[in-house]
Amino acid sequence: MDKISTPIKTKEIIEKYGFYFKKNFGQNFLIDQNVLSNIVSASKITSDDLVIEIGPGIGSLTQFLCESAKKVCAIEIDKNLIPILNETLAGYNNVEIINQDILKVDINGLINRLGEKTAKLAANLPYYITTPIIMELLEKRANIESITVMVQKEVADRMQAKPNSKDYGALSVAVQYYCDAEINFIVPPSCFMPRPNVDSAVITLTPKKNPIPVKSPETMFKIIKCAFGQRRKTLLNSIFNIGGFNLSKDQLAEIFTAVGLDHKIRGEALSIEQFANLSDIIIKK
Ligand code: SAM
Repeated sequence: MDKISTPIKTKEIIEKYGFYFKKNFGQNFLIDQNVLSNIVSASKITSDDLVIEIGPGIGSLTQFLCESAKKVCAIEIDKNLIPILNETLAGYNNVEIINQDILKVDINGLINRLGEKTAKLAANLPYYITTPIIMELLEKRANIESITVMVQKEVADRMQAKPNSKDYGALSVAVQYYCDAEINFIVPPSCFMPRPNVDSAVITLTPKKNPIPVKSPETMFKIIKCAFGQRRKTLLNSIFNIGGFNLSKDQLAEIFTAVGLDHKIRGEALSIEQFANLSDIIIKK
């Protein structure tokens, strides 16, 4: 099937439909065939897979996905793109396009309706809502086998960062609590139309079958938020300052000693396991 993702074809389609790129929807379309093909390889999609794509745009990645997957379900917020997608994907009988905001889609309900147990997710994500989309998928425990997405390189670095590095933060801990994260490759601005101002990266998140057991993930994430909300303070002071889970400073200090944490340690030095241990003891008190 003829691909629409060359710079010339993309321009032709956009002009034909009088389409205007909307910055507020993060519309930077891919115009590089190698990058598109490499995203599909990184997703390890097979002909047995249901693939959910977030934000198909004019269908550049969707075409590649349709050629590898059993079925593709593409969710696009911009209604002006629907007639374009109906044309560019007309040659494929394994695609369904849904005109909706991804944050309002019940992913597990969708997978069930399509008669599958799980799906793989692939996307060149709209950068303005990368974190809410990823967190929604992880926290709601969507039945997703793998998530392979293009994001800003800086965000990919944060997702993969380890303790004590400058990029390590709440997003790193949240992503790595639920998933194994691996950056596949870096993509320069020249591969997009229009060009973004930053480098991008394709990252694969593979949900862990057995995440670290934590009695209350909610408490752990409250501690994590507090740890990175006040990076310059010691973790003990940060927890105490937010109300300390109704514990005195001495009680908090005792807990730190019990889990083997220096009283002066900052949140950015803790591994996920250490956040989990601390959280489990705090909720017991
Ligand atoms: N997949 C296309 C490509 O690679 O050329 C387009 C990627 S573009 C970076 C992001 C796409 O996501 C746009 O088509 C945009 O309209 C769509 N989008 C933005 N916000 C969305 C949302 N909340 N739900 C679904 N799609 C969204």
